[in-house]
Amino acid sequence: MFDFVGFFLYNNSSDSTMKISFLGTGGAVASQERDNISFLIEESAVLSLIDCPGAVVQKIKKVGYRPQDLKFIFITHIHPDHIYGLPSLIHSLMLEEMNLLLFGSAETIGFCAQLLDLFGLRESKIKCRVELRELAPENEISLTSQLKVTGLVIKHHSSSLGFLWENASGKKIVYSGDTPADRSFFSKIEGVDCLIHDCSAPARFFQLFPELKRMHTDSLTLGKLAEEFRIKRLIPCHFFGEIDFDQEEIVQEIKFSYQGELTVPQDFMSITI
Ligand SMILES: [Zn+2]
Ligand SMILES: [Zn+2]
Repeated sequence: MFDFVGFFLYNNSSDSTMKISFLGTGGAVASQERDNISFLIEESAVLSLIDCPGAVVQKIKKVGYRPQDLKFIFITHIHPDHIYGLPSLIHSLMLEEMNLLLFGSAETIGFCAQLLDLFGLRESKIKCRVELRELAPENEISLTSQLKVTGLVIKHHSSSLGFLWENASGKKIVYSGDTPADRSFFSKIEGVDCLIHDCSAPARFFQLFPELKRMHTDSLTLGKLAEEFRIKRLIPCHFFGEIDFDQEEIVQEIKFSYQGELTVPQDFMSITI
């Protein structure tokens, strides 16, 4: 790896950007327009995949990248809509001489090992080697000389972990994964450049099904928290496909409080931070 003195002394003056490309933006039930949430982050030509549902190989190609250029995978938790594409991805890459580093909580890492072994995807004939690495909450790891990642506590599931990526220019992207609205989470990421956050449905659905509040976030509450904690750019995601609401309702609820830059992502959309 490298030392942090070098990271800040030599790289802090650069103004590098990070490009996010959405492979999916929906919740567990896909809709005609939205597949399960996952996305890519490109930083200085280093490609990371965040969550791994569905046919990610096709989708990575669709947004203009090569799956064999992946370096890092980050898995937020072990619910199927965030992880079920992993065996297929590694199977697709089995003839590629490459190393992938996969990060998640201890529980997620253990689960991924079982999942890959179930399909024999860590046997020696598989040329794509996957190294599984635990990232503990609050721990910071240097990924490259330009990029580091920190784990964040998330209260959705025992395996849940959020991620904060920071590049050498000091730009920060945070991804909550699935999460209830949580002030303690927001207090740790105050003023961040870009927050990709669970926004599963408008508030009226959470009134109908109050138990949802322990697992996910509604758009009205998300807007309030994002404004209070001065999030510069908010990207809501993980929209439920099994209930009926339109995007405008989400936008109106968020904008009821939030004054910052709001981007409602579509599948295959790219943005630069
Ligand atoms: Zn989910
Ligand atoms: Zn979940």
